[in-house]
Amino acid sequence: MQATITDIINETPSVRRFFLQTGDLTVFDFKPGQFVTLKLPDATERSYSIASLNGGNNAFELCIVLNPEGKATPLLWQMKPGDTLEFDGPLGQFILHEPAPCDYAFVCTGTGVAPFRPMIQELLKSGVQRQIYLIFGGRNQVDLLYRKEFEAWQEQYPGFHYIPVLSRELWEGRKGYVHAVYEELFADGRDARFYVCGWQAMCKEARMRLKQLGYNRRQYFFEEYDG
Ligand SMILES: Cc1cc2nc3c(=O)[nH]c(=O)nc-3n(C[C@H](O)[C@H](O)[C@H](O)COP(=O)(O)OP(=O)(O)OC[C@H]3O[C@@H](n4cnc5c(N)ncnc54)[C@H](O)[C@@H]3O)c2cc1C
Repeated sequence: MQATITDIINETPSVRRFFLQTGDLTVFDFKPGQFVTLKLPDATERSYSIASLNGGNNAFELCIVLNPEGKATPLLWQMKPGDTLEFDGPLGQFILHEPAPCDYAFVCTGTGVAPFRPMIQELLKSGVQRQIYLIFGGRNQVDLLYRKEFEAWQEQYPGFHYIPVLSRELWEGRKGYVHAVYEELFADGRDARFYVCGWQAMCKEARMRLKQLGYNRRQYFFEEYDG
């Protein structure tokens, strides 16, 4: 498939939001949590979670962090609105499973938040009556992707809790790492669904800690960005 870049927004100094649109003759139908694999002009292929809801209009958003030493992202940083990208997708099974009568925790660092933005939006729109926690890890406040939007959702939906955790900055919010937060919130081991997304080291640690809390494979789901 082919998509045209319609806009690019600098979300932070190292993260960009890419807005894409496929042609009128194709139907690009995707579920919250799925990803696309971009095929760059030099034949490099890299996957990116879709960071937006399916509006039925063939438009979608990607949220990408620059790896200055990397192969693909420096090429993406050269792209401009109007440029086109080849891609495969939608792909992946990291999606919301059967509606569960229990609380949800979405645990991520950095651009690992991308699939959670549409997943949480879908849950909130469905009117689900459970507590939904977004536990987002970053280094400094500048790393808090979509911060204003999540804060607005928290105002609007009493069941949604946005918990940013910073490892490098002293601030009024939580300091440290994401793991301590869900360990506290779910210390009682009550039934819950955990969705974890980001780089392998964080996912590996979360898998170990969730097991220690007594959770199993039907209760937690992972998307590893370098797995
Ligand atoms: C299913 C899936 C979905 C993904 N979704 C996203 C997404 O929504 N947004 C996004 O930014 N990336 C996402 N990624 C990661 C993405 O595919 C690339 O790996 C990333 O953009 C780096 O590509 P590169 O070619 O620039 O770097 P490479 O040349 O591939 O980088 C070299 C090495 O650096 C590591 N690396 C790169 N960046 C980081 C980082 N920030 N922290 C730790 N290690 C890093 C890689 O694991 C690799 O070992 C996803 C990966 C998968 C598998």
